[in-house]
Amino acid sequence: MTPPEHGLVGFSAAIALGLYKRGGWKLVALTTFVAMVPDWDWLACLWGDAAFQTIHRVWGHAIISCLLTAFVVASCDYWLDITGRCGQVLHGVLSKCFRFFGFFGFSGSSGVVIRQQRNWSEYRTWVIAATIIIFTHPIADLLVTGGVDFPPWPVQLFWPFSPQPFTCPILHWGDPGILTIFILGLVAMCCLRKYCRFVAFSVFIVFGLYAWLR
Ligand SMILES: [Zn+2]
Repeated sequence: MTPPEHGLVGFSAAIALGLYKRGGWKLVALTTFVAMVPDWDWLACLWGDAAFQTIHRVWGHAIISCLLTAFVVASCDYWLDITGRCGQVLHGVLSKCFRFFGFFGFSGSSGVVIRQQRNWSEYRTWVIAATIIIFTHPIADLLVTGGVDFPPWPVQLFWPFSPQPFTCPILHWGDPGILTIFILGLVAMCCLRKYCRFVAFSVFIVFGLYAWLR
């Protein structure tokens, strides 16, 4: 899967699991980001094709790497409120743009509150949510891989303990149906906010049916 597709899968999974009720938009934003992070091993391409072939879908996608990544990203985000700070910057930029284009009714205030009170119970929610959602990434990469002209690219789930490759291709990489289903799901969740959990569940059912029919 491509990083935007991973982000959409992570977002839909977060909504389906009711994470918005547990940690608000900040937890949903964090988990959406976390769902894309295992592709950091794509950076191996900077060291040439051989390094890319050896490292991608290994260093960032293994179970141990996902556990560590989820813990580190969730911890940094919770204690430093990185999501809140990014939201504040984004809100400031949007405020300026909206005022520039004449939407004077738009509030110029920060609109995003940086977390002042922290507690271990909420921190635990952050870490558990990130740990659950990050595994949508290797699972999706097991299922959506390969193409007409290139073979499936396996994931080494048990690296560094075992080089055993895993793959279970059901859809080709870049299949346009995947992005279409998850974007339509996102639009439906925005339009039907009251029923967004039901819509998020439905998105995964539709995705499963689509994969089965293909
Ligand atoms: Zn990946």
